[in-house]
Amino acid sequence: MSTAIRIEEVNKIYKASRGREVQALTNINLNVDESEFISIIGPSGCGKSTLLRILANLDTPSSGHIHWESSADHIGFVFQDATLLPWKTVYENAKFPLEVKKMTSKEHLDNLDKLLELAGLKGFEKAYPRELSGGMRQRVSIVRALSYNPDVLLMDEPFGALDALTRDKMGIELLRIWTETKKTILFVTHSIAEAVFLSDRVIVMSPRPGKIDEIIDIDLPRPRSVEVKETIEFVNYVKKLREVLG
Ligand code: ADP
Ligand code: MG
Repeated sequence: MSTAIRIEEVNKIYKASRGREVQALTNINLNVDESEFISIIGPSGCGKSTLLRILANLDTPSSGHIHWESSADHIGFVFQDATLLPWKTVYENAKFPLEVKKMTSKEHLDNLDKLLELAGLKGFEKAYPRELSGGMRQRVSIVRALSYNPDVLLMDEPFGALDALTRDKMGIELLRIWTETKKTILFVTHSIAEAVFLSDRVIVMSPRPGKIDEIIDIDLPRPRSVEVKETIEFVNYVKKLREVLG
Protein backbone atom coordinates (compact mmCIF):
# COMPACT_ATOMS: atom_id res chain seq x y z
CA MET A 1 0.00 0.00 0.00
CA SER A 2 1.56 3.32 -0.96
CA THR A 3 1.00 6.65 0.70
CA ALA A 4 -1.18 9.26 -1.02
CA ILE A 5 -0.87 12.14 1.45
CA ARG A 6 1.48 12.81 4.34
CA ILE A 7 0.25 15.38 6.85
CA GLU A 8 3.14 16.48 9.06
CA GLU A 9 2.92 18.57 12.22
CA VAL A 10 0.13 20.74 10.84
CA ASN A 11 -0.97 23.64 13.04
CA LYS A 12 -3.58 26.24 12.26
CA ILE A 13 -4.11 29.43 14.23
CA TYR A 14 -6.86 31.81 13.14
CA LYS A 15 -6.59 35.48 13.99
CA ALA A 16 -10.06 36.24 15.27
CA SER A 17 -11.47 39.64 16.25
CA ARG A 18 -9.59 41.99 18.62
CA GLY A 19 -6.34 40.08 18.18
CA ARG A 20 -7.82 36.97 19.77
CA GLU A 21 -6.30 33.78 18.41
CA VAL A 22 -8.05 30.48 17.82
CA GLN A 23 -5.94 27.35 17.69
CA ALA A 24 -7.99 25.29 15.23
CA LEU A 25 -5.48 22.48 14.64
CA THR A 26 -2.61 21.26 16.82
CA ASN A 27 0.19 19.00 15.60
CA ILE A 28 -1.82 16.98 13.13
CA ASN A 29 0.17 13.99 11.85
CA LEU A 30 -1.42 11.50 9.50
CA ASN A 31 -0.42 9.31 6.59
CA VAL A 32 -3.23 8.55 4.20
CA ASP A 33 -2.84 5.50 1.99
CA GLU A 34 -3.86 5.37 -1.64
CA SER A 35 -7.44 4.17 -2.06
CA GLU A 36 -8.00 4.37 1.66
CA PHE A 37 -11.35 5.41 3.12
CA ILE A 38 -10.81 7.57 6.19
CA SER A 39 -13.54 9.18 8.27
CA ILE A 40 -12.93 12.12 10.57
CA ILE A 41 -15.24 12.51 13.52
CA GLY A 42 -15.35 14.94 16.43
CA PRO A 43 -17.45 17.65 18.04
CA SER A 44 -18.33 20.90 16.28
CA GLY A 45 -15.44 23.32 16.10
CA CYS A 46 -12.67 20.75 16.50
CA GLY A 47 -11.10 21.67 13.15
CA LYS A 48 -12.47 19.03 10.75
CA SER A 49 -13.42 21.53 8.05
CA THR A 50 -10.20 23.45 8.59
CA LEU A 51 -8.18 20.29 7.94
CA LEU A 52 -10.10 19.52 4.72
CA ARG A 53 -9.79 23.12 3.54
CA ILE A 54 -6.04 23.01 4.09
CA LEU A 55 -5.85 19.74 2.15
CA ALA A 56 -7.86 21.32 -0.66
CA ASN A 57 -5.52 24.30 -0.69
CA LEU A 58 -8.40 26.62 0.18
CA ASP A 59 -6.47 27.60 3.31
CA THR A 60 -2.84 27.37 4.46
CA PRO A 61 -1.43 25.82 7.63
CA SER A 62 0.21 28.20 10.12
CA SER A 63 3.02 25.66 10.33
CA GLY A 64 3.68 22.12 9.18
CA HIS A 65 3.47 20.49 5.78
CA ILE A 66 1.23 18.52 3.47
CA HIS A 67 3.11 16.20 1.13
CA TRP A 68 1.21 15.00 -1.90
CA GLU A 69 2.24 11.90 -3.73
CA SER A 70 -0.06 12.90 -6.58
CA SER A 71 -0.74 16.29 -8.12
CA ALA A 72 -2.58 18.69 -5.82
CA ASP A 73 -4.77 19.56 -8.79
CA HIS A 74 -6.37 16.18 -8.39
CA ILE A 75 -8.76 16.83 -5.55
CA GLY A 76 -12.52 16.67 -5.60
CA PHE A 77 -14.51 18.43 -2.86
CA VAL A 78 -18.06 17.63 -1.76
CA PHE A 79 -19.77 20.00 0.70
CA GLN A 80 -22.77 19.52 2.97
CA ASP A 81 -25.03 21.32 0.52
CA ALA A 82 -24.94 20.09 -3.03
CA THR A 83 -24.26 23.64 -4.31
CA LEU A 84 -25.56 22.87 -7.80
CA LEU A 85 -26.26 25.63 -10.29
CA PRO A 86 -30.08 25.85 -10.42
CA TRP A 87 -30.22 26.98 -14.06
CA LYS A 88 -28.16 24.02 -15.27
CA THR A 89 -29.38 20.45 -15.77
CA VAL A 90 -27.97 17.41 -13.95
CA TYR A 91 -25.70 16.72 -16.91
CA GLU A 92 -24.54 20.33 -17.24
CA ASN A 93 -23.84 20.53 -13.51
CA ALA A 94 -21.90 17.28 -13.47
CA LYS A 95 -19.93 18.32 -16.55
CA PHE A 96 -19.18 21.85 -15.31
CA PRO A 97 -15.62 21.19 -13.99
CA LEU A 98 -14.75 19.50 -17.29
CA GLU A 99 -15.86 22.62 -19.18
CA VAL A 100 -13.84 24.86 -16.87
CA LYS A 101 -10.77 22.63 -17.21
CA LYS A 102 -11.30 22.19 -20.95
CA MET A 103 -11.37 18.42 -20.53
CA THR A 104 -14.17 17.58 -22.96
CA SER A 105 -12.52 14.76 -24.93
CA LYS A 106 -14.58 11.65 -25.67
CA GLU A 107 -12.69 9.78 -22.97
CA HIS A 108 -13.67 12.31 -20.30
CA LEU A 109 -17.30 12.44 -21.42
CA ASP A 110 -17.51 8.64 -21.52
CA ASN A 111 -16.14 8.57 -17.98
CA LEU A 112 -18.78 11.10 -16.94
CA ASP A 113 -21.50 8.86 -18.38
CA LYS A 114 -20.11 5.95 -16.42
CA LEU A 115 -20.13 7.97 -13.19
CA LEU A 116 -23.73 9.10 -13.75
CA GLU A 117 -24.66 5.48 -14.20
CA LEU A 118 -22.75 4.40 -11.08
CA ALA A 119 -24.53 7.08 -9.07
CA GLY A 120 -27.93 5.93 -10.31
CA LEU A 121 -28.56 9.14 -12.24
CA LYS A 122 -29.07 7.63 -15.71
CA GLY A 123 -32.30 8.99 -17.14
CA PHE A 124 -32.12 12.16 -15.04
CA GLU A 125 -29.50 13.98 -17.11
CA LYS A 126 -31.97 16.58 -18.36
CA ALA A 127 -33.62 17.22 -15.00
CA TYR A 128 -33.00 20.44 -13.08
CA PRO A 129 -31.81 20.43 -9.44
CA ARG A 130 -35.23 21.63 -8.17
CA GLU A 131 -36.79 18.47 -9.65
CA LEU A 132 -34.50 16.18 -7.61
CA SER A 133 -34.60 14.86 -4.06
CA GLY A 134 -31.87 15.94 -1.63
CA GLY A 135 -30.14 12.58 -2.00
CA MET A 136 -30.10 12.82 -5.80
CA ARG A 137 -28.76 16.37 -5.69
CA GLN A 138 -25.96 15.20 -3.43
CA ARG A 139 -25.19 12.33 -5.83
CA VAL A 140 -24.87 14.87 -8.65
CA SER A 141 -22.37 16.80 -6.57
CA ILE A 142 -20.38 13.61 -5.95
CA VAL A 143 -20.32 12.86 -9.69
CA ARG A 144 -19.30 16.47 -10.35
CA ALA A 145 -16.41 16.15 -7.87
CA LEU A 146 -15.29 12.91 -9.55
CA SER A 147 -15.81 14.15 -13.13
CA TYR A 148 -12.19 15.16 -13.73
CA ASN A 149 -10.92 11.98 -12.16
CA PRO A 150 -9.26 13.32 -9.02
CA ASP A 151 -7.17 10.92 -6.96
CA VAL A 152 -8.52 12.22 -3.70
CA LEU A 153 -12.09 12.99 -2.70
CA LEU A 154 -12.62 15.31 0.28
CA MET A 155 -16.14 15.16 1.71
CA ASP A 156 -17.27 17.57 4.44
CA GLU A 157 -20.43 16.20 6.09
CA PRO A 158 -21.84 15.40 2.64
CA PHE A 159 -24.91 13.60 3.99
CA GLY A 160 -25.53 15.91 6.96
CA ALA A 161 -28.67 17.47 5.48
CA LEU A 162 -30.31 14.18 4.50
CA ASP A 163 -32.86 12.11 6.41
CA ALA A 164 -31.63 8.91 8.08
CA LEU A 165 -32.95 6.48 5.45
CA THR A 166 -31.58 8.42 2.49
CA ARG A 167 -28.34 8.80 4.37
CA ASP A 168 -27.95 5.02 4.77
CA LYS A 169 -28.62 4.51 1.06
CA MET A 170 -26.09 7.19 0.15
CA GLY A 171 -23.47 5.40 2.23
CA ILE A 172 -24.01 2.20 0.27
CA GLU A 173 -23.94 4.13 -3.00
CA LEU A 174 -20.71 5.86 -1.99
CA LEU A 175 -19.06 2.53 -1.11
CA ARG A 176 -20.00 1.20 -4.53
CA ILE A 177 -18.52 4.23 -6.29
CA TRP A 178 -15.41 4.03 -4.11
CA THR A 179 -14.93 0.31 -4.89
CA GLU A 180 -15.23 1.02 -8.63
CA THR A 181 -13.09 4.13 -8.78
CA LYS A 182 -10.46 3.30 -6.09
CA LYS A 183 -10.32 6.90 -4.86
CA THR A 184 -8.70 8.00 -1.65
CA ILE A 185 -11.50 9.44 0.48
CA LEU A 186 -11.44 11.70 3.53
CA PHE A 187 -14.95 11.88 4.89
CA VAL A 188 -16.10 14.17 7.72
CA THR A 189 -19.19 13.01 9.57
CA HIS A 190 -21.05 13.39 12.87
CA SER A 191 -22.44 9.88 12.67
CA ILE A 192 -20.46 7.20 14.47
CA ALA A 193 -22.32 4.37 12.71
CA GLU A 194 -21.72 5.96 9.31
CA ALA A 195 -18.00 6.32 10.04
CA VAL A 196 -17.71 2.66 11.10
CA PHE A 197 -19.74 1.39 8.16
CA LEU A 198 -17.73 3.25 5.52
CA SER A 199 -14.18 3.42 6.76
CA ASP A 200 -10.86 1.63 6.85
CA ARG A 201 -9.85 3.97 9.66
CA VAL A 202 -11.69 6.47 11.81
CA ILE A 203 -9.85 9.56 13.06
CA VAL A 204 -11.29 10.89 16.30
CA MET A 205 -10.59 14.56 16.96
CA SER A 206 -10.99 16.39 20.27
CA PRO A 207 -12.34 19.91 20.70
CA ARG A 208 -10.07 22.94 20.60
CA PRO A 209 -7.15 22.97 20.23
CA GLY A 210 -8.11 20.48 17.47
CA LYS A 211 -6.02 17.39 18.05
CA ILE A 212 -6.19 13.81 16.86
CA ASP A 213 -7.30 11.85 19.92
CA GLU A 214 -7.27 8.38 18.53
CA ILE A 215 -7.13 6.47 15.25
CA ILE A 216 -9.24 3.34 15.09
CA ASP A 217 -8.79 0.63 12.46
CA ILE A 218 -12.10 -0.76 11.29
CA ASP A 219 -11.39 -4.38 10.62
CA LEU A 220 -14.72 -5.39 9.09
CA PRO A 221 -14.75 -7.48 5.90
CA ARG A 222 -15.46 -5.86 2.53
CA PRO A 223 -17.59 -5.52 0.51
CA ARG A 224 -19.93 -4.35 3.27
CA SER A 225 -23.68 -4.45 3.15
CA VAL A 226 -26.26 -3.22 5.66
CA GLU A 227 -26.27 -6.59 7.42
CA VAL A 228 -22.83 -5.83 8.84
CA LYS A 229 -24.50 -3.26 11.11
CA GLU A 230 -26.12 -6.07 13.05
CA THR A 231 -22.89 -7.90 13.81
CA ILE A 232 -21.32 -7.83 17.26
CA GLU A 233 -18.07 -6.52 15.75
CA PHE A 234 -19.84 -3.50 14.28
CA VAL A 235 -21.67 -2.77 17.52
CA ASN A 236 -18.39 -3.01 19.43
CA TYR A 237 -16.71 -0.47 17.15
CA VAL A 238 -19.63 1.91 17.65
CA LYS A 239 -19.38 1.42 21.41
CA LYS A 240 -15.65 2.02 21.42
CA LEU A 241 -15.98 5.21 19.36
CA ARG A 242 -18.74 6.47 21.62
CA GLU A 243 -16.41 5.95 24.59
CA VAL A 244 -13.52 7.77 22.93
CA LEU A 245 -15.81 10.67 22.00
CA GLY A 246 -16.98 10.81 25.60
P1 ADP B 1 -15.46 21.82 12.49
O1 ADP B 1 -15.53 21.68 11.01
O2 ADP B 1 -14.82 20.66 13.17
O3 ADP B 1 -16.79 22.14 13.10
P2 ADP B 1 -13.90 24.21 11.89
O4 ADP B 1 -12.71 23.68 11.19
O5 ADP B 1 -14.95 24.82 11.03
O6 ADP B 1 -14.52 23.08 12.84
O7 ADP B 1 -13.42 25.30 12.94
C1 ADP B 1 -12.42 25.06 13.91
C2 ADP B 1 -12.25 26.27 14.80
O8 ADP B 1 -11.69 27.35 14.07
C3 ADP B 1 -13.55 26.81 15.38
O9 ADP B 1 -13.31 27.25 16.68
C4 ADP B 1 -13.91 27.97 14.46
O10 ADP B 1 -14.66 28.92 15.15
C5 ADP B 1 -12.54 28.48 14.06
N1 ADP B 1 -12.54 29.06 12.71
C6 ADP B 1 -12.84 28.41 11.56
N2 ADP B 1 -12.69 29.22 10.49
C7 ADP B 1 -12.28 30.42 10.98
C8 ADP B 1 -11.94 31.69 10.39
N3 ADP B 1 -11.96 31.86 9.07
N4 ADP B 1 -11.57 32.69 11.23
C9 ADP B 1 -11.52 32.51 12.56
N5 ADP B 1 -11.80 31.35 13.18
C10 ADP B 1 -12.18 30.32 12.41
MG1 MG C 1 -17.19 21.68 9.71
